[in-house]
Parts: sequence; C-alpha cells; structure tokens
Amino acid sequence: MMQQFLRIKAQHPDQLLFYRMGDFYELFFEDAKQAADLLDITLTARGKSGGEPIPMCGVPYHAAEGYLARLVKAGVSVAICEQIGDPATSKGLVERQVVRVITPGTLSDEALLEESRDNLLLALAQHGERYGLAHLDLSAGRFRVLEVEGEAALLSELERLQPAELLYQEGILYPAVTGRRGARSQPQWEFDTDSAEKALNDQFQTHDLQGFGCADLSLAIAAAGCLLQYVKETQRNQLPHITSLGPERHEDGVIMDAATRRNLEIDTNLTGGDSNTLFSVLDTSVTAMGRRMLRRWLHRPITDTTVLEARQQAIRALCNNYQFELVRDTLKPIGDMERILARVALRSARPRDLSRLAQSLAALPKLRNELNRCQTPLLSQLQQQCNEYPDTVALLERAIKENPPVVLREGGVIAAGYDEELDELRQINTHAGDYLLEIEQREREQTGISTLKVGYNRVHGYYIEISKLQSARAPAEYVRRQTLKNAERYITPELKEFEDKALSSKSRALAREKLLYEELLDRLNEQLLALQTTAAAVSELDVLGCLAERAENLSLCQPEFVSEQTIDIEAGRHLVVEQVLEEPFIANDCLLNQQRRMLLITGPNMGGKSTYMRQTAVIALLAHVGSFVPAKAVRLAPVDRIFTRIGSSDDLAGGRSTFMVEMTETANILHNATPNSLVLMDEVGRGTSTFDGLALAWAAALQLAQQVQAFTLFATHYFELTSLPEQCPTMANIHLDATEYQDHIVFLHNIQEGPANRSYGLQVAKLAGIPRAVLNAAKHKLAELEAGAPANPGSPPPAQPDLFSSPAPHPLLEELENLELDDLSPRQALDTLYKLKSRLD
Ligand code: ADP
Repeated sequence: MMQQFLRIKAQHPDQLLFYRMGDFYELFFEDAKQAADLLDITLTARGKSGGEPIPMCGVPYHAAEGYLARLVKAGVSVAICEQIGDPATSKGLVERQVVRVITPGTLSDEALLEESRDNLLLALAQHGERYGLAHLDLSAGRFRVLEVEGEAALLSELERLQPAELLYQEGILYPAVTGRRGARSQPQWEFDTDSAEKALNDQFQTHDLQGFGCADLSLAIAAAGCLLQYVKETQRNQLPHITSLGPERHEDGVIMDAATRRNLEIDTNLTGGDSNTLFSVLDTSVTAMGRRMLRRWLHRPITDTTVLEARQQAIRALCNNYQFELVRDTLKPIGDMERILARVALRSARPRDLSRLAQSLAALPKLRNELNRCQTPLLSQLQQQCNEYPDTVALLERAIKENPPVVLREGGVIAAGYDEELDELRQINTHAGDYLLEIEQREREQTGISTLKVGYNRVHGYYIEISKLQSARAPAEYVRRQTLKNAERYITPELKEFEDKALSSKSRALAREKLLYEELLDRLNEQLLALQTTAAAVSELDVLGCLAERAENLSLCQPEFVSEQTIDIEAGRHLVVEQVLEEPFIANDCLLNQQRRMLLITGPNMGGKSTYMRQTAVIALLAHVGSFVPAKAVRLAPVDRIFTRIGSSDDLAGGRSTFMVEMTETANILHNATPNSLVLMDEVGRGTSTFDGLALAWAAALQLAQQVQAFTLFATHYFELTSLPEQCPTMANIHLDATEYQDHIVFLHNIQEGPANRSYGLQVAKLAGIPRAVLNAAKHKLAELEAGAPANPGSPPPAQPDLFSSPAPHPLLEELENLELDDLSPRQALDTLYKLKSRLD
C-alpha cells in the first residue's frame, strides 16, 4: 500500500494527497503533518519507514468538504485519490487513482466557494519592469489580461484582485508576490508567448487573438497561456464556458495604488474586517452574482463618462416611482446562475443546480416585464439580454424531480414521466413483487399444481418451484434449474426475461438516469453563451437596482461630469461615518478648481480632517462607478487617479519603518499624480523630527501645487504651512472648527475658510484622559514655549493657580467639574455647556 501511495504521491508533489481508505481519506508523511496542523486534527502513526514511524492523519470522507474548504482557504491544494476497483472483488490491493485536484484558484464547487466574492486564479509574467497579468474566475468563466509597469502598479492590481492562487514566473523574487498565500512559482517555459497563443486559439477556436483586442499584450498573453495550461491540468476537463479573453486597460480605470484601496476601506476596513466599509453600506443587492459585480465595480472605477452616465440614467429611471422595488422583487427567485452555468460547462452541476437554474430562468419574463416601465438605453439593452428560455424551463421542469437529492450518485433525480424507458425500469423494480405473484397465480391455475410457487435465490435467480410429488406434472416449457430433496425448481422463458430485467433494472435505471442527465447538460451547454450573457445582464440589473435603492434611502445625489477642471461638492457626507454616528453628520462643501488646486486643512485632532478628506475621495470614487453620491450636488471632471497618504503603520514584514512607508508613498504620488488626479495627504512629515518633517511637508505641498498641479487636500498640523497660499495663489486654507468652553473642547465638524487659529492639543489630550498633573505641566511648558522662554525639562512646574485649584471656587465650577463630558457627544456637551454659561451670565 505504501508503494502505491508513494507512486501516486510522486505525481502530486505540490498537493496534499487525500488517499482514500474505506470511509476515510488518509494523509501520510509531510502531508499528514501539514494537514494536522492546518485542520487541527490528531497526528498518529502507521507502520514504519526507515525505522521511523510514518506520520498519518485522516478525515472521514463524508465530512471531507468542510476540511477541503479550510485547506483551500489556507492556500493549499489537494489531490483526491479514490479507490477505483471494488474492494469486495479485487484481489490484493485495490486500485486507486487521483480523480480530481482541488486548488484554491480553480474552485467551482458551491460548498467550497464564498458566495459574495470572486475566486480568482492569477498568473504573472515579468519582463524587466513590466508585468503581464492574466486572471480567471473559473466559477464564472471570466478571463482577463492586463499589463502594468512597475511594482507599485503591480501591488495595486494584486490588492484589487486578491487572487486565491497566484502562479508567478520563476525568477520573480519580490516578497509581496512570492510571500502571498497561494503563490507558487511556475517554470520559465510555461510562459512562452507562442505556445500561449496557440493554446488560447485552441481554446477559443480562433485563428488569432486580434479580435479580443489584446494583440499588444504579449506578456499578459504569456501569463494567460500558463494559466490555461494549469487549469486544464487540474480540471482534467473541457472548459467550454471560457470563450473569450478580455483586455483590461490600466488607463480605462481610475488608478488607485494599494495603499489607497486600503485607506478608502472599499470592502475591507483598516483592521482587516468587512464591517463599516463602503461595500457593506452600499450592498443591498438581491443575488450573489450582483453582490460580486458590485464589489468588482467598486474596486475598478472607470473613466468612460458615456458608460457612467448610462448607469446614472438607469439608476434615475429605477428610482422613479420606486420602480426598483418591483424590479428587485422579480430578482428574488433568481439563483447564482453564473456559477451554476460554470458547473454545467465543467459537467459538475448537481441536480439542485438544475432545478435552481429552471427556477431562475422562469423568473425572467416577469423581470423583463417590469423593465418595460423604465426604459433607458442601458436598461433596454439589459432587458433584451435577459432572454426568455421557455423551452429550457419546460425541459428542466419536466426532467428534474421536485426537491431532487443532492447528488446524482444514488439516482432518483429524473422525474417520472420524462423518459419511458426509465419509467419502465423503475416500474419493474417497484412492481416486481406484484408481478411475481401474478405469474404464480396464473401458472397455478393453468397447471392445476397447488404446490407451485415462484421464488428467488441469489445463486440461481428466479424459479418456479414444484414439490417432488407433483413435479411430474410440470409443463414441457418448464426448464429444470435445480433439484432439491423435496422439490424441483424450473425456469420459463417468461421468467428468464423478467429476471434479466429485474436484476439489472436497478443498475440500468441508474445508468439511464446518468445518461439522461448528461444529455440535459449537453442541451444546456448548447446555449451556454446566451445563458451566460443573460446571467451577466441579471447581475448588472441587480447592481443598478441596488444602487437605486441606496440612492433613494441614503439620500444620494446624481453627480454631474463636466469638462471644466473642478471638483465641486455641495454638502458632502461620509457614507460610512454617517451610518455609525448616533448624532447627525455635519455635511461640508468642497471646492477645487483651476484657481484653487490645493486646500491646506488645519484644525484640532478629532476635528474631522480625515473624515473630510476621505469623504471627498469616496465621492469621487463612487461617481466613477456610476453610482449616486452622498452629497446635495456634485460637479466634477473625470479623475484619472486617486492617491491617499493617510495614516501610517509600520511595514514590519517588508522591513520598512513608518517614516519609510510614508516617504515611499509620498514619492509615488509626486512621481505619478497628474493635473487630473485627486490626492489626499494627511499629516505628511509626522514620522520624523519636527524640522525635517515640516521641511518635507512644505516642499511636497509646493511641488504638488506648482509642478504636479493635482487636486490636493493637504491636512497638516504644521501651522507654518498656512502661510503658503501667500506665495502660491492656487493654494487655499480651510479649517475644521471647534469651540471651547473653559477647558473643554467641542468639535463642530464644519469646514470654514482660512487657517485654524488654535490647535486645541491639550484639550484633546484631556478628552483622551491624560492625568491632570501632566496636563498642568504641559500647559506651563506651552506658555513657556509660546513666550520663547528656554525650555528646561528638568525644573518642576511652579505652583500655578489653575482653574481647578483656585482658592474660592465658583459654585458653578464644581458642577462643571463633575460633568462627565467625555461620555457626551460633542453636540450634547456643547448644549450642556451653553446652559451652564447662561446661568453664569
Ligand atoms: P481628525 O482627522 O481631524 O483627527 P477625524 O476625521 O478622524 O478627525 O474625525 C474624528 C471623529 O469625529 C470621527 O470619528 C467622527 O465620529 C467625528 N466626525 C468627523 N467628521 C464629522 C462630521 N462631519 N459630522 C459629524 N461627526 C464627524
């Protein structure tokens, strides 16, 4: 057995081998150690190899799916090795074979896939600074290629695509690639452009790849060839649902670097979770396919205003009279057609996939009908693509039983009345008993033999038995089969025929069902392309309906794209912050144009600077998705890139300090931003000494405003920078307002023109719970610093009369001191303080 295991394992060195033994899949040697660790199961031993016990662990085969899901999630591939021969009949060792290979990037099983996320396999080729990428969602048949220049752009794409598995060309040593979960290197020769073109033309049955518009993407084509080869090897199957290759042009999208994607919390928040993200607030889509499409849209905003305006128009039409509600209602019975169709193509569709497909297709006429009431060019086009398939629905409804079993293995899937032969085979089985009684009755009457009976045994099959005494009266057509002590057993041609039918009817019924099922898959595969187009149209309708519902219920407005260089937001809001706040969100304007390219934002910490900057970027992003945006009115010119330099964390894994990360990101912005870009800079320079930081922030701000001329929001705590607008007229100061009552600060969160006049640092520190003694010492130091006195950290602060220890406290002061302002919202705090003030007055 170990020899057999080692022989098979040798063919699958990169995969965990699930070796079937009875009711278990067993793993041995290193595989066992790795699996025990990842799955948290017990590691045992079996036999010995070279005097050492062989590590072993196992999982029950009926529970394998859950374990497989965990392994692929951890980026591990698994080869499933089954017993091919029948253990009951085979002599010696039962034959075994690898029947499928499951890798993280090539999943199509419903149980292994995450419903609301694409599952991508990505291949990466490199030539100098240029990278060719090909990515495939096997569970949808989407196959795309693109090329990017430089590591930053590559990282941005990896951040966007989040591939479950990554095949990189041998020789790429970049840790952000090689260290990814599910990354594996592929030999150089797998990335050969000529063989790739040939393989792709074979797949698409084309003469060349011109028609797909990727003639100039030879590096990406090489990657696509490697990818296709890998999928074919692991699937051991045709891939008829992969019918084209789509180029993704970097410049067609709004370019965002990896840090920006993270900072804007598109679908992952800064702590790595999925709550409080743009996606979590926006996604109310009805179908899983819609959910995945919305995620793709948010990750790849586009610049083509024709497409964007068509989406806006559709959203507006769907909002009209709450039409989206009716449309969304009709989407409810629609299942995950996209993935079902992929399984139909891979011939792994399960019975319930087919009944769900029938249900989904049956819902289309109603959907089309609802769309009659809201016509825009895009909606009409989608309506048309939601073809109706009455024949297919009828066929599937007739063919598949209601609530069919999960798998075809045991039969019972094809409905009665669909196929005569199957019905007959099933009839024989269910009515065998009745039929034999019928024969017995008839033969008794015809022969007059009272002891005649019909029976069955495993060795001789069916027989007619007559007692020895009466056996002489057996009719001539009875053929003797077996002689017993007291009886003779016979067979008749009729009984022989019945026996053949009955004995084989069960297995024949099963075989017949399998054949009929395969035929159904054939029939569906004939219309695969049309069905896939319909699934895509349904997804898009779902996303548009979702965006319409959000527009209505979150009070979003339709942004207007203009040719004049501007970003002009009236009463903009932060979509996510406004959801989590208990008090009302304070809306703010933002105006950037040719004369006002950079806003220097000052104001206290916690004043709302980051919120304001992020909301501006999110509004720009959503506008480029085609969505409505959280504001009263927005006019903007198309944005080509969004950059953010916000917050900073050590990149310990990459060996870079906070300051290094900050400077790398700043350098990227200074090199790549254009006059059509939107740049957010939050407290640049914070990571180093005051003067270094101030000097760098100063220089970077000037470069951005004067040379790069990008639209920039520049938040800073260096007050020195607020004098920059005097020398650079395209810069303007704005600040976030706060007010103070005695030692308490109240944030107003509204944007005002001009620089802030105070920083309120000590007040914020107080809010944060810094001990009073430290605050008093700091206050003293501050007074000293502001007066230009030499700083002397050694001397203790002189006993200053302060507000809290004055000899004759005002009666209200005690009340004020006892107020738990920290527990109140800024609004409530302000209110309380005003009340106290009026009493004081
Ligand atoms: P800063 O960057 O100036 O330190 P933040 O933008 O992080 O401040 O905002 C701090 C908190 O203030 C936010 O978490 C939010 O609760 C609140 N906040 C910010 N902006 C607003 C606003 N416009 N309306 C209401 N609350 C706001």
